[in-house]
Amino acid sequence: MIVRIDDVMCNSGAFTQERAENRFKTIHSWIPYEIVHMPTILVKDIQEYPNIIEFIKEESHQKLRMFPEIHGYEHIDYSVLSETEISEHLKLCIDWFKDVLKLTPAIWAPPWGNVGSLAMQDASRKLGLRIQGVEKTVPPKVALEILKIHPTANLTVLAHWWEKGHAIKRICKIVEAGSYDKASELDKENLF
Ligand SMILES: [Zn+2]
Repeated sequence: MIVRIDDVMCNSGAFTQERAENRFKTIHSWIPYEIVHMPTILVKDIQEYPNIIEFIKEESHQKLRMFPEIHGYEHIDYSVLSETEISEHLKLCIDWFKDVLKLTPAIWAPPWGNVGSLAMQDASRKLGLRIQGVEKTVPPKVALEILKIHPTANLTVLAHWWEKGHAIKRICKIVEAGSYDKASELDKENLF
C-alpha cells in the first residue's frame, strides 16, 4: 500500500511556515512501516522549507521511511508546454533530487493528474521517469471503505499535505492493526 502525498510543499499562504511544516511531519508520523509514504515534491516551492528538505533527506535516507518523487518544478499545467520546456523543468527536478536528496527519482506525478500531452510523455520517458496520473489512485474516503472489507488491499491512496488528513490517519491505524474492527477496538482517540 502506498500513500501518495501531493503538493509538497506548495503554500497558498493559508498556513504559517511552522504550521505547514508540522502538518507534513504529522502525516508522516502516522504512516507505519507497512505503508510506503510517497511525497511528490514541487522543487521550486520546497526551497522555502529548508527544515522539510532536511526532514525528507533523513527519513528517505537513513530511516528508509519515505520515497519522494517529482510533482513538478512548479504547480503548473505541463500539458500546454513544449517538450523542451517540460524537459528543462524535469531536469531541474532530477538535478535537485540528486544533488540535495542524493536520490534518483523514478516517477513524475504531474499536477492535477494531467498526463494528457504527448510532449509530457516523451519528455519523461527520455529522462527515465515513469509518468503517474491519478487513475490508479483512490481518495482516502474510498480507501477507507475498501479497507473495511479488504484490510490488506494494495491501494495507492492520494492525499495532500494541506488536507486535515483524518481519513489518512484512520487508514494508517487500520493497516497497523490489521483490520478495521481491531483498529476501532484499539482506538483511544475516537477516530472510529
Ligand atoms: Zn498538485
